[in-house]
Amino acid sequence: MKKNIILMGPPGAGKGTLAKQLIALGYVHISTGDMFREAIKAGTELGKLADSYIKHGDLVPDQVTIGLVKERLSQDDCAKGFLLDGFPRTLPQAEALEVLTKEIARPIDAVINLDCEQKELVRRISGRRVCKNCGAPYHIDTMKPKVDGVCDICGGPLYQRNDDNEDALKVRLNHYVNETKPLLDFYEERGLLTSFDSLKGSAVTFDEIAKFLKS
Ligand code: ADP
Ligand code: ZN
Repeated sequence: MKKNIILMGPPGAGKGTLAKQLIALGYVHISTGDMFREAIKAGTELGKLADSYIKHGDLVPDQVTIGLVKERLSQDDCAKGFLLDGFPRTLPQAEALEVLTKEIARPIDAVINLDCEQKELVRRISGRRVCKNCGAPYHIDTMKPKVDGVCDICGGPLYQRNDDNEDALKVRLNHYVNETKPLLDFYEERGLLTSFDSLKGSAVTFDEIAKFLKS
C-alpha cells in the first residue's frame, strides 16, 4: 500500500473529488484550499490574508502555506498516511516539503497527476458548486445533488466559490502552467510520478487509482 501521496493536476482536474473518494481507503485528506476556506469562514487573520489572494486566483505566499502544511503534516493522525491535495504548487513548496518529510520521517511514496484538457477544466469549474459545510464538490450538469442546492452528504447549502469565475480562473490556470506544472518534472526525476486521465469520469479514475495505491 502506498501511504503518503501527493495529488497534482490543474484546477478542475478532480483532485478534491478523488481525494474525498480515497478517504475510504484510510487516508487523511489535507487540502490547503479547504484549510484556507475554513480560515476565511472563521474570519481569522490567516483567512483575511488568504482571501486577498484567493479571490483573484493568485497563490497565497509560500511562507504562509508552507507553515500551515508543516503544522498539519506533523500531527499524529497523519501517521496512517496522508493525501496532499493542492500542495505543493511551487518549487519552494516542493523543496520545503522534501525537507519536512525527511524531518518527520514520513516520506512521499507516490505523486499522482490527474491529466485534463483545458476546455474541460473551464466547463467543470464554471459549473462547480461546493458544500458550505463539508466542502463536497458538485456540478450543475454532471454531478447534481439529489436535492437542488443541498449537499447529499451533510445537508449543507451549496454555493459557487468566489474564485470559480472566468477572470480568477484565467489567473489560476496561468499559475498552474508557470509555477505548478514544472513540479511534474521535479517528481518524475525522483521516480515518483504516475499520470492518470481524468476525462474518463470520476468512478473509472477512482478504481484505477485505488488499484495503483494498493499495489
Ligand atoms: P483548485 O485546485 O480548484 O484551484 P484549491 O482549493 O486547491 O483549488 O485552491 C484554491 C486557492 O487557494 C488557490 O487558487 C490559491 O489561491 C490558494 N491555495 C491553495 N493551495 C495553495 C498552495 N499550495 N500555495 C498557494 N496558494 C494555495
Ligand atoms: Zn456537505
